[in-house]
Amino acid sequence: MTTIELVQGDITRQRVDAIVNAANSSLLGGGGVDGAIHRRGGPAILEECRKLRAGHYGKGLATGRAVATTAGDLDARWVIHTVGPVFSASEDRSGLLASCYRESLRIADELGARTVAFPAISTGVYRYPLEDAARIAVDAVRAARTDVEEVRFVLFDERAHAAFAARLS
Ligand code: ADP
Repeated sequence: MTTIELVQGDITRQRVDAIVNAANSSLLGGGGVDGAIHRRGGPAILEECRKLRAGHYGKGLATGRAVATTAGDLDARWVIHTVGPVFSASEDRSGLLASCYRESLRIADELGARTVAFPAISTGVYRYPLEDAARIAVDAVRAARTDVEEVRFVLFDERAHAAFAARLS
């Protein structure tokens, strides 16, 4: 059984086995939660991301996929980078967003992570509507077969927290 927790706050302050990053396909950093994770986690994370790009992920990480690195100076063992879809009004990309959660949990299982913190993937610069994103995230985690014991959704602001709380209750 996986317990789902909701927290309003900064994901870079969480003490968990793995922190999930809403990365972009370049894996080389960006704004939003990605920028915050690299800032607080220090250069070791980017260094490993660069190695991934130089190796198996030469074309970048595909949308809906996930890959892990060190968590550097964060209070976690790993950062799991996943690439959410950019919202589209004309195309249903919910499967790709659900895949981010599923794939991140699969990587967490491979690592042996038991506690995993997720941000609200794709709800910032990628413009996914919060209510849709919350439904997809909660449903994907509930449906996942995983050994992760605690999934903690860490929502940055009150609106995001309310959307996830509504879906959970
Ligand atoms: P995306 O490109 O996937 O939309 P963003 O980083 O722009 O990624 O936004 C994803 C979500 O992360 C947004 O809801 C944003 O408010 C939130 N966010 C930004 N910084 C943090 C942080 N330090 N901790 C948790 N969530 C954050």
